[in-house]
Amino acid sequence: MSITEGVVYCDGCGAEVKDAPVVRQGLTYCCAICAEGGECDCGEEDDDRRAPAAPAA
Ligand SMILES: [Zn+2]
Ligand SMILES: [Zn+2]
Repeated sequence: MSITEGVVYCDGCGAEVKDAPVVRQGLTYCCAICAEGGECDCGEEDDDRRAPAAPAA
């Protein structure tokens, strides 16, 4: 069994799959949640601009 090098994107939410992808019916998903049609938060990691405002210490 060989591991394909390169970037893999989820067929569900479009997020980059960094861990082991979940394959269902020929499609590749980022996680089991996407594979079952649910909403996951894997793609939100790419948006650094949504970082919460830290209170001034
Ligand atoms: Zn996904
Ligand atoms: Zn996911």
